[in-house]
Amino acid sequence: MIDFRSDTVTLPTPAMLAYMQAAPVGDDVFGEDPSINALEAKTATLFGMEAGLFCPSGTMTNQLAIKTHTQAGDEVICEELSHIYQYEGGGIASNSGSSVKLLRGDRGRITADQVLAAINPEDVHKPISRLVSLENTCNRGGGACYEFSAIEAIQKITKSHGLGLHLDGARLFNAMVHKKEDPKQYGKVFDSISICLSKGLGAPVGSVLLGSTPFIKKARRWRKVFGGGMRQAGSLAAAGIYALDNHIDRLKEDHSKALEIKNALLKKEFVKEIFEVETNIVIAHIDGKYNATQLAAALKEKNILVIAMTPTLVRFVVHLDITNEHLAKTLETIEKL
Ligand SMILES: *Cc1c(COP(=O)(O)O)cnc(C)c1O
Repeated sequence: MIDFRSDTVTLPTPAMLAYMQAAPVGDDVFGEDPSINALEAKTATLFGMEAGLFCPSGTMTNQLAIKTHTQAGDEVICEELSHIYQYEGGGIASNSGSSVKLLRGDRGRITADQVLAAINPEDVHKPISRLVSLENTCNRGGGACYEFSAIEAIQKITKSHGLGLHLDGARLFNAMVHKKEDPKQYGKVFDSISICLSKGLGAPVGSVLLGSTPFIKKARRWRKVFGGGMRQAGSLAAAGIYALDNHIDRLKEDHSKALEIKNALLKKEFVKEIFEVETNIVIAHIDGKYNATQLAAALKEKNILVIAMTPTLVRFVVHLDITNEHLAKTLETIEKL
């Protein structure tokens, strides 16, 4: 099977497995896992932030960030397609008791003007605007990247209004590779950042939450409450260290493969539109000989897996385990559809 359903399906490489096996471990709830401590320090340094917290999933790092930034009755401002709102099981409400103000952006991206207009005035009728959360790249926006200047403009607003600014950076490395950006730029403007090791970077498990020392201390307490305190999980952290050392630069190969898939799809009459492809995600609007569900089924017959996100949208996600041979077979299959 050639699996384009998600960049979460990657398997650890033999070299990653060897690195994991050799990693020293200890009890992380006691702060004694050398590999987890090394990963947290490494990521914090990479972003120029004070501290990091290793967690089992990106959902947990996002939810811990929201829990740590807010109190019940506060409001989180985000784009309507955000993972934190769409795909985290209503966690903002159930974990934090926070309300959400949804903004309609451009392929998942919002602007400083929208943020400014969304901040509630001091008024007993209104929830207290407390946090703005951005996503980069935007998953449902087809891997769209923010312009860094747009992020800086948003940060000016959050800072002057006393709001926190969180980044769901599940695919931040894809954005930084595409835009040739430095992690330290991000560390400077965000109060908290979640990065996933289990997406494009190819580790089997794990995300890291980054922030100031007091912020991470508070989040670490909530991680225990959420049931995310792990023990000898250092081999998983080691996979993350290996991924950061070896799997960042290669993301550009995924991006160029995604462009080739886009170009092959564009030649088909049943492809009405494709979101601009900037990184590793291709989202195509399908209508004609096939709808999205039928196209996914036709590709599955040829051993190619994609996701029909809606009856009209199909998503391909390119990742570490998509080889040149897989790409060639996929392009050939699309051509014959
Ligand atoms: C995958 C993803 C996450 C985290 O998902 P987990 O499966 O919980 O690790 C968060 N945000 C975005 C945008 C994602 O794509």
